[in-house]
Amino acid sequence: MKPRARIPNPYEAERRAALEEVRAIYRELESRPIQRNCTRLTECCQFKLTGRTPQLTKGETLLAAKAVRGAGRKALPEPPLAGACPLLKQDGKCTIYQDRPFGCRTHFCAAAGGPYDRPQVLDLIRRLEALDTRLGGSGPRALPVALAEELRAMH
Ligand code: SF4
Repeated sequence: MKPRARIPNPYEAERRAALEEVRAIYRELESRPIQRNCTRLTECCQFKLTGRTPQLTKGETLLAAKAVRGAGRKALPEPPLAGACPLLKQDGKCTIYQDRPFGCRTHFCAAAGGPYDRPQVLDLIRRLEALDTRLGGSGPRALPVALAEELRAMH
């Protein structure tokens, strides 16, 4: 019997393109000469300390959730410290460092040089927002909520 031709899944193609767009935005950010010196104090990953939780657009959420799955997890672990990011490991490293969200790439503690000025990266924020709209997202959402929901949807 002739093997059946694979039917292209339009959602899968859209998803792959979305992941590539988010990676391109992160690469563009990295190429900019904005100097910061992160020494991994992990303060910025402790939301209770900073009073700030990274807000993820849909594309960032898809990429981060894929990375969490790639790290062998089907759900978010318990944070190592009360009020910390669930993706912060006991050793102070990020579980998904290569694919960490935009906010984690632009928010730095005072010791590392402070957060990026919004106008410096506004064009990239706009690209993430436009992608969120294309993917039917509802705007930026708090990391723990957005990621937990996406991981459940991936089951
Ligand atoms: S995703 Fe990674 S870099 Fe971002 S807050 Fe969590 S542990 Fe820190």
